[in-house]
Parts: sequence; structure tokens; C-alpha cells
Amino acid sequence: MRIGVLTLQGGVEEHLEILDGLDGIVIPGGESTVIDKLARTFDLAGPLAAAIGGGLPTLATCAGLIYCARDLDNPAPGQQTLGVLDVTVRRNAFGSQRHSAEQPVPVGEDLTVDASFIRAPIVTRVGEGVEVLSRVPGPDSEPVVVGVRAGAVTALSFHPEENDDDRVHAAWLRAAALVEKFSNHVFA
Ligand code: GLN
Repeated sequence: MRIGVLTLQGGVEEHLEILDGLDGIVIPGGESTVIDKLARTFDLAGPLAAAIGGGLPTLATCAGLIYCARDLDNPAPGQQTLGVLDVTVRRNAFGSQRHSAEQPVPVGEDLTVDASFIRAPIVTRVGEGVEVLSRVPGPDSEPVVVGVRAGAVTALSFHPEENDDDRVHAAWLRAAALVEKFSNHVFA
């Protein structure tokens, strides 16, 4: 199984070719405006949108969620997104006092993880066919959506990778049917 990690701030010329051979992709946190600019600079935005829109299993976290969203409440000037996930996202929704909080977060029915929120976005509109995976108390203590899934795309406001816990990744691989596809090779 070949899972790519979008690392635009490194050397990237090879990415275009590599996209073809991927079974899945992770779009990690960072800064969504920078991801957007670099992806467009390297002519990667179109191929990425086509690949993800065409069903490439995708795990998007934090800035990755922002980058996948169809709409943003508060885009930076000129900021574009891939538009592959029918949600509206508000960047930096928790404000500065919640820069880097860690808290337990449900991910679907069966899983709760401790996750970091680092200048995290929230989902303010969930489109048709998009399943809510996670809610936490928001900036004004009302529950807000911080995790969604649509087909093979799982997108989260928080960082599930910070705590040496691979259960979110495993759940994504299962939801994207990659575990079945590769069961003989990897998980048997
Ligand atoms: N606030 C960042 C953005 O707008 C996201 C932060 C993160 O990925 N941890 O892209």
C-alpha cells in the first residue's frame, strides 16, 4: 500500500508523477494559505483535486481540512481551496487562547482520542452526504463540528498524529476500504 504525505515545503517536482501511483494521501496540518500557494505554483492543485474528487483515499488534518473544503467563512485574501469536500470551514476558529489545547475527541461512534488543537478550524456547514465524526465544545462552549467523513475522505480539525496513537489512521484506512484491499499484504 502506498500512502503519500503532501509535503509541499520540500522538493516537489516528483509529486505529480507519484500521485499516479498512490493508494491514499495525507494532507497534514501547517498553513493552508501556504499549501494553497505552493500547490498552485507547482501545478499540483488541479491534479490533486481530480485525484481526490475521483476517490483517492484522503486523510486531511487541520490545514488539510481547510484546503479540502468547498467554502471558507474567512479565507485569506486570494486564498483558494481544492473544494473536494462539501463543507464550509472557519479558520482559526478557537481564537488565540486555544492556540494549542489538547482534549479528548470522539471520532465516530467507537473511538475517542486525545488530540491537539493548534490554531484549529471548525466546520460551520456540513453538506449533503457528509457524515459528522467529531464534535467538541466550541469557542462559546456550544458543540462544534471538528471531524467529518465523505466517502474515502476523512477530514479533522485537530492533530491525531501528535500522541503516538495510530487509531485514527487505522479507522481512516478501514473507512477508505484500504484495509480490505490490502488485507493479504499488510494486515493479514
Ligand atoms: N490556522 C492554520 C491555517 O489556517 C491551520 C493550523 C494547523 O494546521 N494546525 O491553515
